[in-house]
Amino acid sequence: MPEFRLYNSLTGEVEPFAPADGSTVRLYTCGPTVYNPAHLGNFRTFLFEDLLRRVLRMRGWGVEQVMNLTDVDDKIIKRATERGITIRALTDPVVTTFHADREYLRIQAAEHYPRATEYIAEMIALVERLQANGVAYRADDGSVYFAIDKFEGYGRLSRLDTRKIRTGARVAQDDYAKENAQDFALWKSAKPEDEACAAAWDSPWGRGRPGWHLECSAMAMALLGETLDIHAGGVDLMFPHHEDEIAQSEAATGKPFARFWCHGEFLLTDGAKMAKRVGNVSTVADLREQGVSAAALRHFVFSTHYRKQLNLSAAALEASIEAVRRIGDFSDRLARETAGSPALSEAADTLLVEATTVLSDDLNAPRAVGALFEFISAANRALDSRGSDPAALGRAREAFRQVNGVLDIVPDRGTSGGELADWVEAQLEARTQARARRDFAAADAIRKSLEEKGIAIEDSPSGTRWKSVR
Ligand code: AMP
Ligand code: ZN
Repeated sequence: MPEFRLYNSLTGEVEPFAPADGSTVRLYTCGPTVYNPAHLGNFRTFLFEDLLRRVLRMRGWGVEQVMNLTDVDDKIIKRATERGITIRALTDPVVTTFHADREYLRIQAAEHYPRATEYIAEMIALVERLQANGVAYRADDGSVYFAIDKFEGYGRLSRLDTRKIRTGARVAQDDYAKENAQDFALWKSAKPEDEACAAAWDSPWGRGRPGWHLECSAMAMALLGETLDIHAGGVDLMFPHHEDEIAQSEAATGKPFARFWCHGEFLLTDGAKMAKRVGNVSTVADLREQGVSAAALRHFVFSTHYRKQLNLSAAALEASIEAVRRIGDFSDRLARETAGSPALSEAADTLLVEATTVLSDDLNAPRAVGALFEFISAANRALDSRGSDPAALGRAREAFRQVNGVLDIVPDRGTSGGELADWVEAQLEARTQARARRDFAAADAIRKSLEEKGIAIEDSPSGTRWKSVR
């Protein structure tokens, strides 16, 4: 296998990557702020991280991934206050929706989903450590700030112009622009509205709550140790969030916080970043309503490299729906055929080599999708001219299963009689029986449950055929 390489925002170069311990990649991915269902822009980033995770596993490494859930920050407190409820009451249902959406998009589960409010003790301990090291100070507003001029590397990740660093000036809000590179809040003294929505905790500095940046440093180090292999997120997090995470963590431990920093580019609509504050967001719920499958969205997202901006449009989604149909038809054909030829076997080998090579080169998913389509054309031609070798067919199925298993465009139907196929066959049998006893409501319900799993069925005089469409 070719060397695995990844773009590192820290150095601005594509570099060879392997986990520090040689076997398990410790991966931290900044998760959603759970005050509103995540939009497709957020999910573009989570899909890039899903791809990263799957490629790391394809390379034979284990992955220990943490995705935090930010369940206390300025935006959450504002929203809970408007509604007159606690932050927990606001965030709980959003967390449930997040996981349902994530599962719909077949984003693999991380090993840990820590909630910020469950790591307050670790956050307080980190602030104490920073105070002991002389890089944090208590200001007259009762909050504790990080003194950026006491940390030498401040601004290195986002290549902050030193003139922009304003020492002594302070910024209390969680998010701010580069023009305001100032001392930022680690721990904020509680205001009456924080108490009202149960967003305040006891601390050595009185009642208060953590700053957003502190949350990630504390959870990452608690669960993965002081030096991560990879820290990932969307490009908008580079400043101030990741810059501040580095400052807090490294000023406390004296060790590099992450060996690689990886950032995914934006999803746009009509040329503008998809964002709640712009008001141009669409969600997984919208997709489902429009009948856009997870397969189509995954195809759409992976057809552009993660470091390039991607514009969401009806035409692009339409093209992905069509592409996915072709892949699904091909997957069905592979399951139906009984033998292949040397040409088929050759096409399978080419697919495996090409897909592994391009995915290992900074996750070049668009080229892997291209290789998959070239394989489909070549394999269809080889199958048309018939063959007599079941082993060649086996190789083709295996190559398809492996490459599709990384991109996860169509659900794996198993080679012969896999779990999905067994389940579908059982459902179809139940549907035939329901129709025989003229219980059409039950038959329709079964068809619907199949459709929800991405299985389309087609009745014909010779029986019912099915295929996976997402
Ligand atoms: P948030 O819930 O705002 O903290 O964001 C969660 C993740 O989504 C972060 O990694 C952001 O960088 C990412 N993100 C936000 N908007 C977009 C967008 N339009 N395109 C891609 N990623 C985004
Ligand atoms: Zn973070």
